[in-house]
Amino acid sequence: MSTPELHQLGVAELATKLAAREVSSTEITQHLLARAKAHESLGAYLALDETASLAQARAADVRLAAGERTPLLGVPLAHKDIFVTRDFPTTAGSKMLENYRSPFDATVVAKLAEAGMVNLGKLNCDEFAMGSGNDNSAYSPVHNPWDRERIPGGSSGGSAAAVAARLVPAATGTDTGGSIRQPASLTGITGIKPTYGRCSRYGMVAFASSLDQAGPMARSALDCALLLSAMAGPDLDRDSTSLDHPVEDFAINLGATAAFSESAGGQKSLKNLQGLRIGLPKEFFGDGCAPGVQAAVRAALAEFERLGATLVDISLPRTELSIPVYYIIAPAEASSNLSRFDGVKFGHRAAQYTDLADMYKKSRSEGFGPEVQKRIMIGTYVLSHGYYDAYYLQAQKIRRLIAQDFQQAFTQCDVIAGPVSPTVAWKIGEKSDDPVANYLADIYTLSTSLAGLPGMSIPAGFGEHGMPVGLQLIGNYFKEAQLLGTAHQFQLATDWHTRAPVL
Ligand code: GLN
Repeated sequence: MSTPELHQLGVAELATKLAAREVSSTEITQHLLARAKAHESLGAYLALDETASLAQARAADVRLAAGERTPLLGVPLAHKDIFVTRDFPTTAGSKMLENYRSPFDATVVAKLAEAGMVNLGKLNCDEFAMGSGNDNSAYSPVHNPWDRERIPGGSSGGSAAAVAARLVPAATGTDTGGSIRQPASLTGITGIKPTYGRCSRYGMVAFASSLDQAGPMARSALDCALLLSAMAGPDLDRDSTSLDHPVEDFAINLGATAAFSESAGGQKSLKNLQGLRIGLPKEFFGDGCAPGVQAAVRAALAEFERLGATLVDISLPRTELSIPVYYIIAPAEASSNLSRFDGVKFGHRAAQYTDLADMYKKSRSEGFGPEVQKRIMIGTYVLSHGYYDAYYLQAQKIRRLIAQDFQQAFTQCDVIAGPVSPTVAWKIGEKSDDPVANYLADIYTLSTSLAGLPGMSIPAGFGEHGMPVGLQLIGNYFKEAQLLGTAHQFQLATDWHTRAPVL
């Protein structure tokens, strides 16, 4: 195969070619590194290291030559710069960690490397994963490849832009309140946030530990299934909140013969989703949702009906409360997690200071950007004596009720569907001075995170300004296979996930 076409191929397709030895991992890696450099202006990558990536590719080629065949062997990916890596610097999008090198790999990074994936580099993100537009990165904003004047979503904006622009077939992301699903939606790719605890948080720079969860971002549900099978699994010695739950082969559960099938397909039965009840929360379809987004989502839902699913009206009555609850709990946990960046234990140290207190103060003021500083202050406030009961404790109680609302809903349906984001991607800078507008954009993703449920975004068409729209699917705990299978059936019947921006 001629190399100019290699970037058109997804994970499963590359794996098939690698297994057949039609192309080497080294060739794919070289091609994608050249493409990453050619499109540097997107701002997707924060670090590339040709020598490190090619060494991994050559190692994969040796394994392939020796006859080893595993579903991801030799396929490249790139990591959100929130996962620590030995071979590449890790910044979490912050000046605080400029030039930081971890002595170890995050569990997710190590697992994907063991599966034979080649790390192409580190991807830009909002500072400490705080943001919805990747405009809070201390290094550079990321541009949406569908329209460079627009944000790609956040905080995993580099991951989303790189996959959408076909710089890499797949990337890791993290989702604390929507950071996998929302950028996937705004760039027209597929992403899944698994059940809280499915993937180990060990080596993920912590933002809000009770919410943070890793997941794959790729072009299709099949590709996400392949990655998630390798990423997930208990890691109890290093992350006590990782779940002791067996990892399924999500790709096989799709009904596809995993990476080695010629197409992602199987047969196209029109009634593959017969019997599936899809719940539509009325709170997700209100006036706040842009008409173009609503139209694309409704059209996707009609497709699900054609595939045999039944749509049922449900209610998630505390959806609106998820914004204040999340923006109390997440900053509270962040204020605690980020205390380690003090210029002594970790992070930037100011060049000049008068005494210890002054050193802490100057180091943190210089190292953290404005959004992070704001959240540390909010978090410290809501946890402080006299305010803890009024804010933090109250938020925890409502969080529990939000989780109960979902369990109530799941008595009426199998999966929940709706928009991911109330609008398409906005212009870079448009919401920079308006934190409330930024936080409101998270309305449809936060409740899933607060409940710890799995959720995904799949491309569902285009809305205002011709920009991509994602459909959100939310499942009950451990129902990733059901979500991926539902998405896969939709992707067999539609081609939205194959659309790519012209670069
Ligand atoms: N947009 C949300 C925030 O700013 C979610 C971020 C995330 O999931 N990491 O906190």
